[in-house]
Amino acid sequence: MADKRDYYEVLGVARDASADDVKKAYRKLALKYHPDRNPGDARAEASFKEAAEAYEVLSDSQKRAQYDQFGHTGPQFTGFGGGAGVAGGADPFDIFEQVFGGRGGSIFDDLFGGGGGGRRGGARRGSHLRVDVTLDFEEMAKGAKKTITLRRHETCGSCRGSGAATGSGRTRCAQCGGAGQVRQVAFGFMAVHQTCPRCAGEGSLLEKKCGSCAGSGRELKKRDITVAFPAGIEDGTQMRLRGEGEAGPRGGPAGDLFVVVRVRPHKVFRRQDDDLLVEVPVSFADAALGADVAVPTLEGRHTVQMKAGMQSGARLRVKGKGLANMHGGRRGDLIATLDVEVPRKLTPRQRELLAEFRAIEDKHPGPKRKGFLDHLSDLFDL
Ligand SMILES: [Zn+2]
Ligand SMILES: [Zn+2]
Repeated sequence: MADKRDYYEVLGVARDASADDVKKAYRKLALKYHPDRNPGDARAEASFKEAAEAYEVLSDSQKRAQYDQFGHTGPQFTGFGGGAGVAGGADPFDIFEQVFGGRGGSIFDDLFGGGGGGRRGGARRGSHLRVDVTLDFEEMAKGAKKTITLRRHETCGSCRGSGAATGSGRTRCAQCGGAGQVRQVAFGFMAVHQTCPRCAGEGSLLEKKCGSCAGSGRELKKRDITVAFPAGIEDGTQMRLRGEGEAGPRGGPAGDLFVVVRVRPHKVFRRQDDDLLVEVPVSFADAALGADVAVPTLEGRHTVQMKAGMQSGARLRVKGKGLANMHGGRRGDLIATLDVEVPRKLTPRQRELLAEFRAIEDKHPGPKRKGFLDHLSDLFDL
């Protein structure tokens, strides 16, 4: 990610540019640098991709906010909720389509004299891959490194993706004469153009196939990839590892690898944003008199002072004992919810003391009960 240009600079817009201005700026650049207008110009292609990447981020209010805050160094996460599929829009051509309303659309055809609107000439990019990784709650809390074993197509090492045996080249396809398309007459009166079945639309054929990849230009490889999951990563987070997907055919650039993170629930803790929630049972005498309560945290026990008279459902907050914020913000808190337990079995002595307690209490009911009793007497004239 070295030397990456600022996205606003790439599109030539101000930092407070409206969504419309961003779109207009991208449209201009996309037209200027589109590969079909600049065939074989690697710099134009790079500019096209750069503009598309900038647009992908700046056109999405969430990504833009994240970029404004963290710049290029920020984590490239997208918080997808459920098992959403791989994010679209990563392909510069996809974005092009979004802005221009379809690759085969009229703008495209008018401007570039399209015809089918394929990406002929340029090497196609490989597919994206997706893997799901499940982390234990503790791994999520501490951060973890995991090795993922992938089977993916990589560019063939022998022919570097060309598919041709060493020293051999390609010959023009005899069936389509190099056009990649053949004309077929259907129903006796209608002419239909079809992708040439012999060369699969490439217009040429390999003289001699590469022995390693049988001419495909790619070979299936087993790869171990180590992924670092930052502490506090959220369930459903989609991490994007650029260029770790399938290699493109004929030496085209590789797609991306999307790692979708799942986090196993914990026996004791629940998560609420960056806070950890835990239920702590306390005796009713402790609740009434106040006590030091042992609360579990990720680092072990922590003693919290419970004031006298705390009710069931009351919350005690332990600052900074929650989860790390995966965007580098403040660490969350631990929130203990009190669960006051009324004794189920009493010894004769306990019963005696409680009976005595009740006798006194009836003369001085608590505010809740007093309010309730007053309410009853209002209703029923008691
Ligand atoms: Zn052909
Ligand atoms: Zn090969």
